[in-house]
Amino acid sequence: MSWRDLLCGELRTEHIGTRVTVAGWTDTRRDHGGLVFIDLRDHTGKLQLVINPERAAEAAGTAHEIRNEFVLQAEGEVVARAPEAVNPGLPTGEVEIQVDRVTILSRSTPLPFQLDEENVDETLRLKYRWLDLRRDRMQRNFRLSHTVISAIRRTMDDLGFIDVWTPSMTRGTPEGARDFLTPVRLQPGRFFALAQSPQLFKQLCMVGGIDRYYQIATCWRDEDLRADRQFEFRQLDLELAFAEQQEVLDVLEACVVASFEALGRTAPSRPFPRLTYPEAMARFGTDKPDLRFGVEIQDATEVTRGSEFGVFSGAPCVRFVVAPRAFSRTELARLEEVAKEWGAKGLAYIVVDESGEVRSPIAKFLSERELAAFSAEPGSTVLFGAGAEEVVARVLGGLRLHLGRELELMETGEELFHWVVDFPLFEQEDDGRWTFTHHPFTAPVAGVEEWDEANPAGVQGQHYDLIWNGWELGSGSIRIHDVEVQQRVFRTMGLSEEEAQSKFGFLLEALAMGAPPHGGFAMGIDRFIARIAGEADIRQVIAFPKIASGADPLTGAPTPMPAEVLRELGIAALPRPDDA
Ligand code: ASP
Repeated sequence: MSWRDLLCGELRTEHIGTRVTVAGWTDTRRDHGGLVFIDLRDHTGKLQLVINPERAAEAAGTAHEIRNEFVLQAEGEVVARAPEAVNPGLPTGEVEIQVDRVTILSRSTPLPFQLDEENVDETLRLKYRWLDLRRDRMQRNFRLSHTVISAIRRTMDDLGFIDVWTPSMTRGTPEGARDFLTPVRLQPGRFFALAQSPQLFKQLCMVGGIDRYYQIATCWRDEDLRADRQFEFRQLDLELAFAEQQEVLDVLEACVVASFEALGRTAPSRPFPRLTYPEAMARFGTDKPDLRFGVEIQDATEVTRGSEFGVFSGAPCVRFVVAPRAFSRTELARLEEVAKEWGAKGLAYIVVDESGEVRSPIAKFLSERELAAFSAEPGSTVLFGAGAEEVVARVLGGLRLHLGRELELMETGEELFHWVVDFPLFEQEDDGRWTFTHHPFTAPVAGVEEWDEANPAGVQGQHYDLIWNGWELGSGSIRIHDVEVQQRVFRTMGLSEEEAQSKFGFLLEALAMGAPPHGGFAMGIDRFIARIAGEADIRQVIAFPKIASGADPLTGAPTPMPAEVLRELGIAALPRPDDA
């Protein structure tokens, strides 16, 4: 016996006159005083069962017990629906099954929420995720996710990559987040860190002659959860030996294009445009610009030297954006708030209204030359940033994004993928110390093997980021394969010889035993899929995600552990602040 002859969404007019057995969940049950109609659902869609007491008395008795989400098996004859009962909105809408026998395979307790209910609390949905997963939207997301991952795996296979599994339990990897720790019974008081990424293992695969490695790798990072962050997430992680930057970028472009094609969507055209980091910062004020709209930042530092407007003449950097709208005073006050949130002290502006008339508290201080440099079309507003370069970039970058959203400039329907390249290798921390910009294994640009270790400002790295409509999808780099350069990076970061040895001794040793030049990338798979699925939050494409507090509402984890278990592991738990 088989449970079903066909899937719920497969029933068509061609089945009219045949007998079929179907199985699925009760989506709705409508009792029309005698006749009972049941929409039976599975992952392929819905079909209609009709239970007529005159045709099947026993089935009609059973039908009265059926409630939403009961699992049924039904057998009967496929018939055409009466013309007025045809549902053109459903692929199965021209037919129905006149039931002869129905069996309740599984009952359901009253539901905590109805599947089609709007605004159900997310924690409740996730607590009953098995119900939530039955919704169309979730079914669509997970099938889309599978299509994308399969397309990526096929592409990687075609390009000669092999899937190599790397450990989850390892030493801390410096990807800039906190580690999750795992105690070890056999070594009480010692801990593994869960891999923040397979970074060092994939590099060791290159030293090991694997040549082209990839993995859809789970990564663990202890960070605050947000729309695009979960403790556990997946990366398309890859590494190539003897690779130039261009070859790495090509692999990612191929995967993106294959994903769009597998979904039957128009793929972005290749090669994806490239922007250097200095250009991105100067024109868009961010290293992940949304290129779907203009409103580019323009420089006015030169033209405002010697300005009578003290805020401009005294500032090391003056820049502006031109918004395509003549803002009112109230709107400008709101924009000033936004600018302040990004670190500005105030917001100077020039409004050119529809008739070409200028409204601006600062215009009277500006020379003809300055005004000419800022001249804007009627119906627009010039917004200024003045101060330290990084602050001006951040403020105008923030304002630009805000304008893009508020004036609906970004919803162009385009899918814009692009690269940002040529990042600095080091950045300075607030306390003046230098640290890596992304991770310490990125190589400096070819030809730079030495630098001033006390002040490495300006040393350029071979790092690249992939951006989609202003979202960072992932990053990668050409790596250091020369042990001396690697040691120099550790020294520049202020690691002593001993610290470098104790944390990364295995890497230094490997680099000293025949390491090929290599480079790679990691793309956030959940982010990519969420975006393709049109979801703002990666939780919608992760089967069993955690909520913002870091808990799993379904299993109730994390939980306390009995003292004996902890003792065996060589650890003791302090009382929680709220238990004290
Ligand atoms: N390991 C890096 C990350 O997880 C990516 C890479 O450089 O390949 O962000």
